[in-house]
Amino acid sequence: MIDFELTDEQRLVRETAAEFVDREVIPVARDNDRNERFDEGLVRKLAEMGFLGAIVPEEYGGRGIDYRTYCLIVEEIGRGDSSIRTVVSVQTSLVCTPILRWGDEDQKRRWLPQLCSGEILGCFGLTEPDTGSDAANLRTRATRIDGGWRINGRKQWISNGTRAKVALIFAQTDPELKHRGIAAFLVPTDTPGFSASAVHGKLGLRASDTAELSLDGVEVGDEALLGEVGDGFKIAMSALDSGRLSVASGCVGICQGCLDASVSYSKERIQFDRPIASFQLVQEMIADMTLDTEAARMLCWRAAWLKDMSRPSTTETSIAKLYATEAAVRCANLAIQVHGGSGYVDDYPVERYLRDARVTTLYEGTSQIQKLIIGRAATGVNAMT
Ligand SMILES: Cc1cc2nc3c(=O)[nH]c(=O)nc-3n(C[C@H](O)[C@H](O)[C@H](O)COP(=O)(O)OP(=O)(O)OC[C@H]3O[C@@H](n4cnc5c(N)ncnc54)[C@H](O)[C@@H]3O)c2cc1C
Repeated sequence: MIDFELTDEQRLVRETAAEFVDREVIPVARDNDRNERFDEGLVRKLAEMGFLGAIVPEEYGGRGIDYRTYCLIVEEIGRGDSSIRTVVSVQTSLVCTPILRWGDEDQKRRWLPQLCSGEILGCFGLTEPDTGSDAANLRTRATRIDGGWRINGRKQWISNGTRAKVALIFAQTDPELKHRGIAAFLVPTDTPGFSASAVHGKLGLRASDTAELSLDGVEVGDEALLGEVGDGFKIAMSALDSGRLSVASGCVGICQGCLDASVSYSKERIQFDRPIASFQLVQEMIADMTLDTEAARMLCWRAAWLKDMSRPSTTETSIAKLYATEAAVRCANLAIQVHGGSGYVDDYPVERYLRDARVTTLYEGTSQIQKLIIGRAATGVNAMT
């Protein structure tokens, strides 16, 4: 059975991550957000802490930690800043995990140590201008050439896109085969024909790098193919299975951050000659945040526990992702309410929490898509095809 007690090692990792976030992440979060600054120095520090690719086994440069411990780390980073948390989630769950699971020995040895050490960043290129939720319907084409593949297409909203040295690109090899024709390629981003341009004007995640990728006759050798031709869709879904738990855990961090900020502010702020914490309607908001934080964390831990047991966890991961992301939006909204007018400016972290939380109900599968996954498991009927 699932054990709610953390091991000594897990407690130590959580404390270390929390101290790191308090010392290195929180003090720069507002400035990075205001200036849309992708903080390379902070990414290096994350790597030094071993927070990139931490679930990768040590023989490939990771720390070999379990999913529960990964959740603890990601929660703490999410409490500090979702932009930097996105770097951790993409690098670890969306890039390292599929290489680990589907890569051959050469691919693992070539890419994983560099990704885990932070020497290079990776990105995950699934979404396209005309293909979002319906991920099986990719327009990017890969065609066979002598000794490899030529790839043409565009990818949209790709996190780490302008910084990545390797892009995991999903492309259709035979449109007749639909999702069974999709292949995944590890494309070095300095390959001729590959270009990336940054997307600006985002509501939140402003310190995160989001890009549009163009692949214009990009040629790669056979060694770039991850898994077999036709495995691409399964590779994408298995990566998202890890990524969704990472996003959900980051959102538990947002919920906890909202709660901490609201408790502290409500005890200091005096109105009607009393701290606002003494008003029942304020306590109601704090109780609602507490409930959401605890429930979201437990759902994440359950999904992590299933993964650590190598048991099926897709539905439970979608439940955790749906609940935690929507909870983060609710908590951030309530936290602004507790802060009154002060919550509307960035002297406090709560308005950033709201802006950053908002994307989490969209990326790695919208809330509607999570509901369809949960509904499919409950009814046995697939509403997506
Ligand atoms: C900041 C940011 C970072 C991102 N990072 C990455 C990344 O690193 N890699 C990557 O590949 N992608 C990334 N994405 C893309 C993200 O995963 C997509 O935006 C998401 O999957 C939704 O696709 P879409 O935007 O095309 O919306 P659409 O699929 O067009 O959806 C629009 C609306 O229709 C609803 N909808 C669609 N289909 C159904 C259905 N069958 N039933 C009910 N409702 C439905 C959706 O829920 C949504 O409400 C990122 C996006 C953002 C904003």
